[in-house]
Amino acid sequence: MIEETIFSKIIKHETSADVLYQDELVTAFRDIFPKAPVHILIVPNILISTVNEVKYEHEQILGRMFTVAAKIAIEENIKDDGYRLVVNCNKNAGQEIYHIHMHLLGGTLLGPML
Ligand code: AMP
Repeated sequence: MIEETIFSKIIKHETSADVLYQDELVTAFRDIFPKAPVHILIVPNILISTVNEVKYEHEQILGRMFTVAAKIAIEENIKDDGYRLVVNCNKNAGQEIYHIHMHLLGGTLLGPML
């Protein structure tokens, strides 16, 4: 049994969050502890706990995460300066919430990470 996280409550509007976008596949909301001037999380509406659980049947959802990231980058006016998309998996990457999510980070010079 996979345990639901706070993100399921945000998706179902059972707890407060600054939701920017929602459709039948994904939800996007501002990170509660932003690490950059723009820090938005894009999550599947269904619970997929880590990238290790991703299946072929999820490809449409995962593709939508990217198209929504690109749409929000335009809306947040960070498209041209650039931004970083991050997906953490398990403890060595520092994953805290076991409902996969794409971090969209921008609004400043982020510096090299790799
Ligand atoms: P990760 O380390 O990749 O699992 O990232 C989890 C992210 O979720 C962190 O950046 C947290 O600040 C963020 N977060 C945790 N709880 C909430 C919440 N209730 N609303 C918005 N963001 C959250």
